[in-house]
Amino acid sequence: MARVYIGLGANLGDRRAQIEEAVAAMAVHGIRPVAVSPLYETEPWGLVDQPRFLNAACIAETELVPLAVLDALQAIEHTMGRVRTVRYGPRPIDLDILMYDGLRIASERLTIPHPGMLERATVLVPLADIAADVVHPLTGRTIREHLADLGPTPDVAPYPPGLP
Ligand code: AMP
Repeated sequence: MARVYIGLGANLGDRRAQIEEAVAAMAVHGIRPVAVSPLYETEPWGLVDQPRFLNAACIAETELVPLAVLDALQAIEHTMGRVRTVRYGPRPIDLDILMYDGLRIASERLTIPHPGMLERATVLVPLADIAADVVHPLTGRTIREHLADLGPTPDVAPYPPGLP
């Protein structure tokens, strides 16, 4: 049994419903969520002229090897109508494998831990809600410490607005 840490994002359509649908679909594929973070509304990263994202993170248990997890997440993205057009562009759902136990993988299809995760508040803020003490496999430091390194994160706001 492995623990896999997944980042979720949506910025087209009913964003909250799509994140909930993706979490439910993971369980059907043998990626069983054990913790899901609150939602955050975030400024787009990369290509900035597009709607805001809702982001969340999830911890799941699975018997699947990492590439099979990627296959399952891509099948969910496909089923939910993601159209691959512009890199970093709008999408009904985006699913990333952030970490898989303490594994380090660098292959053509899969890089784990997810490159860039330590620089992105959109990833670290929700992840720290459910995995603050988890150690990043490359740095040996916790998610809490990496989030603190980013300093203030005004572009990542609890959703719906007004929630603490
Ligand atoms: P994107 O369109 O930015 O979501 O990137 C999708 C591509 O990233 C796919 O072709 C995956 O094979 C590749 N990829 C590499 N590492 C990962 C990862 N840790 N999680 C999800 N996709 C990954």
